[in-house]
Amino acid sequence: MKRVSIFGATGSIGQNTVNLIGRNRDEYQVVALTGSQNISQLIMDAKMLQAEIAVTSDPSRLTELRDGLVGSGIDVAAGDAALIDAAARPADWIMSAIIGAAGLRPGLEALKHGTVLALANKESLVTAGPLLMSEAERFGSTILPVDSEHSAVFQALVGEDLTTVERVIITASGGAFRDHPLSALDNVTVEEASKHPNWDMGQRITIDSASMFNKAMELIETKEFFGVRPDQIETIIHPESLIHALVGFKDGALMAHVGPHDMRHAIGFALNWPFRKDLPVQRLDLAKIGQLNFLEPDLARYPALMIAHKVMEAGGLTGAVFNAAKERALDAFIAGACSFTDMARIVDRVVDLVLAREGLQNASITLDNINEVDAMARALTSEEIAKLES
Ligand code: NDP
Ligand code: MG
Repeated sequence: MKRVSIFGATGSIGQNTVNLIGRNRDEYQVVALTGSQNISQLIMDAKMLQAEIAVTSDPSRLTELRDGLVGSGIDVAAGDAALIDAAARPADWIMSAIIGAAGLRPGLEALKHGTVLALANKESLVTAGPLLMSEAERFGSTILPVDSEHSAVFQALVGEDLTTVERVIITASGGAFRDHPLSALDNVTVEEASKHPNWDMGQRITIDSASMFNKAMELIETKEFFGVRPDQIETIIHPESLIHALVGFKDGALMAHVGPHDMRHAIGFALNWPFRKDLPVQRLDLAKIGQLNFLEPDLARYPALMIAHKVMEAGGLTGAVFNAAKERALDAFIAGACSFTDMARIVDRVVDLVLAREGLQNASITLDNINEVDAMARALTSEEIAKLES
């Protein structure tokens, strides 16, 4: 039986993973399930999948978790250290689907144990790509991308020679405000930004799709995971979101990955890798779909794409700065402390401010350095937000 753990089991990716594992229950031994605030879901799934341990990141919720699992034989634990301990439990396959920078440390721990890490947590690659990739190599672990675009690129590259890749084209739906008047973007609400035209995802990533910060993260992920240069990475708006990514080769061929909007495809691909098995996803009827459209992204509407290229060119710890500033700016937008368009202005400014400080690009990518620039970027972002309020 395959031993599996799901970090961020109560979230959108986590629940899709629980769904796939629950459908073939007898093939898996579930080791750890983790969540944060959604304790009732964590309890239900831990019982359903007979997990060895259930962990919440929030120590104040431990009693509730323990009470819910009393008599089940399932271990319980809480806090960041408990998450890392859970990641050290032997498993053949670990889903990394915690949201935000909090996903990095459990992922790094998992890599130390020769596992397959199915990586949905894009923040890990954005903040610490080189560290993650080198740790995987050092410990003989494998990272498989779960973000749909990167799973698509990975699948398009099977059997190919990476040196023949000319470009990688990442598709973007254009998010909630693709057709919204540009001049009215400043006044859009959190509720409006939380509706995705095609995908059903968590709130934060949905807002990041509207601002294209999500795509910006994905461009950086592409560079870090596949080792391609920033000038080889392109973005195209594809409103139907059916082509998830394309890889262009030296001979002019473009390999596209086409599939429904259902994260269970990318999750299932990683779960079954290196094999393909039946997945409960819709089969596309191309004649019914009729046509696929493509548009050049308007950089005035999506400044996050320009910031991503700046971050990729600068390299080093700039990704950690970008991610932290973006997370903080998104908190502020959700809390009503800044407008939708302020987010990109603020993140751009913070990236510039930190880049102006010497040594950042050359500093080594260690957890300590990442934590330091993360804290610095969050503080600078808070200062920029406070300036707006005053
Ligand atoms: P959700 O917000 O739906 O879920 C996040 C998960 O992380 C939940 O289990 C949550 O627990 C847990 N969590 C939240 N804060 C912490 C913390 N501080 N420490 C530990 N655990 C925490 O996110 P998504 O599932 O949408 O996204 C997960 C990751 O996958 C992100 O990195 C996202 O960018 C990426 N991704 C998501 C896609 C999607 O379709 N949703 C597509 C591609 C990538 P609880 O809910 O119990 O509070
Ligand atoms: Mg994606």
